[in-house]
Amino acid sequence: MQKYPSAIYSSSFRNLKKAFQRWRQGLSGFPRMKSKKLGDSFTVLKKSGIYPVKGEKMLPFSNRQILYPGKRITIPGLGEFKLKRPIPYLCSSQTFTISRVADKWYVSFSLDIERIPPISHEQELVGIDLGVKCFATLSDGNTITAPLSLKKTKTKLTKLQWRNRNKILGNRRQGIKASNNAKKYYQKLARHHAHLKNIRQDFLQKTTTEISRKYYRIRIEDLNVSGMIANHKLSAAISNLGFYEFRRMLSYKQAIYGTRVEVVDRWYPSSKTCSVCGHVQSMPLSRRIYDCGSCGQILDRDLNAAINLTNAPLNKIRMVRQRVGRVPRLEATANPKGKCGIYACGQVTRRRACRKQETNIKLLYLLRYERFV
Ligand SMILES: [Zn+2]
Repeated sequence: MQKYPSAIYSSSFRNLKKAFQRWRQGLSGFPRMKSKKLGDSFTVLKKSGIYPVKGEKMLPFSNRQILYPGKRITIPGLGEFKLKRPIPYLCSSQTFTISRVADKWYVSFSLDIERIPPISHEQELVGIDLGVKCFATLSDGNTITAPLSLKKTKTKLTKLQWRNRNKILGNRRQGIKASNNAKKYYQKLARHHAHLKNIRQDFLQKTTTEISRKYYRIRIEDLNVSGMIANHKLSAAISNLGFYEFRRMLSYKQAIYGTRVEVVDRWYPSSKTCSVCGHVQSMPLSRRIYDCGSCGQILDRDLNAAINLTNAPLNKIRMVRQRVGRVPRLEATANPKGKCGIYACGQVTRRRACRKQETNIKLLYLLRYERFV
């Protein structure tokens, strides 16, 4: 135990305390042992600050680790490390979590930064229809397709798994030892999975940010994801794309970009209704084009559904609760005409309320120095 900083042990005990508290409150199950295979990580922190005189106040910021711009980082208790991507500005943080994904080590820490959401968005309302063929169809005619590399990497992964289908990582109970080739294969497999995850994460982050910047009210369908996964023809396509993650990201970005995410009722017939005359007809999944039997309108199936989402009646809509942070609505009292009275910028806002919020931004950096291996 003396080899490592004591903060590692104290932070894991703190996590254990939190786990027990959550269990007693009935929020989660009984704490389980941490697996080294899943979520291999530990936390270090700068423990105490500098007290120049005994019994008096601590020097401000002396209990925080100062991070200088550049490709080097000093982690309290562990020393200096090289980073792959430079830290862009001078900042400070107290807690650092070091984690491993496949064969790479990362450090993550959070900064207290005041984030000011954009005052106005380009467009007021958008409906988004998620689909398997085309990842997302927006009601203004834009489409978002999933990256090709996602499918390619998935195929590669499948081939790799098929070729190595007989390798066993070993089983201590049955007395089977893992061969060197099996060990190598499992490391390679982990790298492939991490790569696939990175592609998906990058795609989802970029699209949700783009949407949150452009539109103010975002309407999506309440997808029955678990029900769709049960349909085995659709399951692979849906779980690959990460529809649930897409919605989760859009909802937590509400606080960051000042958007409103609205969910349209699951049973609202968005794909069966004609977006022009409101005629309802049955639309099996194979029919890609909506041709209305009443008014003769011909439209792409997904686009028709997206337009219907924007026109959905109010009683079919509910707001998505913001899980991360709370946005205090500050009324601009000084300027009732709709001018921003908070930042004294005098900018005319479309909405009366100007939003201001302190967010905890989490940064993740790849460590170059493979000292833990
Ligand atoms: Zn029609």
